[in-house]
Amino acid sequence: MPDAPFPGLKLFITGPTYIRPEVRAAAAWPEFGHRDAENAKRFRPIFEDLAAIADLPQDYKTILFLGSGSTAMEAAIRSLVAADETVLHVSVGAFGDMWHKISLENGKNAALLAFEPGRAADVASIEAAMDEHKPAVVAITHNETSTGVANDVVALCRAVKARGALPIVDGVSIFGGAPTGIRESGCAMYCTATQKSLGLHAGFGIGFVSPEAVDKAKHVTARGHASDILSHLGRAAKFQTQSTPNGALGNQMFVQLEYIVKEEGIAARFARHEAMRDMALDFVAAEPGLAAFAQEGFRSPTVTTAVAPEGTSFADLKDVKETMRAKGYLFDPGYAKLNEDLEAAGKRPIFRIGHMGDISPDMLRGFLDALGEALAGR
Ligand SMILES: *Cc1c(COP(=O)(O)O)cnc(C)c1O
Repeated sequence: MPDAPFPGLKLFITGPTYIRPEVRAAAAWPEFGHRDAENAKRFRPIFEDLAAIADLPQDYKTILFLGSGSTAMEAAIRSLVAADETVLHVSVGAFGDMWHKISLENGKNAALLAFEPGRAADVASIEAAMDEHKPAVVAITHNETSTGVANDVVALCRAVKARGALPIVDGVSIFGGAPTGIRESGCAMYCTATQKSLGLHAGFGIGFVSPEAVDKAKHVTARGHASDILSHLGRAAKFQTQSTPNGALGNQMFVQLEYIVKEEGIAARFARHEAMRDMALDFVAAEPGLAAFAQEGFRSPTVTTAVAPEGTSFADLKDVKETMRAKGYLFDPGYAKLNEDLEAAGKRPIFRIGHMGDISPDMLRGFLDALGEALAGR
């Protein structure tokens, strides 16, 4: 077997992210049959641990989609929005826009309520947009990875339900790093994935669906196959996937979710993410010329965004990325489309510090020290 020709960079991007050695090692565990009793030895704990991390109400169902977060998001649209209905997308950045695009690509009537980058969504604007568009479904981003904004998803979903629509949530970059709020929000479907705050490789989209969502899907036609939540439920009841899963990831996910639930502890994990958000924000406040980008009170526990110093361009941030690479780190010079838009509008670009999954405060300290040097050396 050849040696890996690549250096092992420490990933501080917004997913994929650092994977613990124990989790890497589990990829070498034996293969197994996904319809055999062996499957449930991994996947029963996986389903149970996911429900624990989500604080999932008893009557919700968990689905593992083969794919990634956007696979689950597309399934929500295909399964819950009927042909004669409208879905309202509440977007606070690139991933909210992406979900809107997914709806359009599936031929749905999709309206868009877009907020200025860095701002969180508010109830009054959603209510006004609902009065205008009369949506049956409203799609909300829990944690906008392009801007570092974490919406108050409980308040927003409740407002949507109060007006008689089904809220669906993109929690891709926050699940495993903070509470989902599903119990409090009553959302119809919460979508997430493995490769962000769960600290795993990409490979499964994860969906939590409410009884209301299951009822609703029965009245929606052309739900597709892999995107039909109903077609997954029979298999999910047996802790299985609809079709053949990535067995190496299944083994790794078993190891990682048992660690999260039984060793680190869910509350401790969420507290660690909050501590890292505070560390990153303290760095931004202390570093000359930097400013926090996301609206105060809505700053993400998994990704921190900073406005670059005066006179620093997006191209300069890409140079910082190379300086950081030489120090052994993979730095994120910001979401490209957002930075291009900001610069076109004569504004300063932003960069992102991903502190999700199994990154520890000590690891983050090392990264921030290196970043401080890289910025000062320019
Ligand atoms: C990464 C991300 C997605 C897309 O997820 P994939 O797993 O890459 O399909 C969607 N929404 C948010 C908020 C994300 O961060």
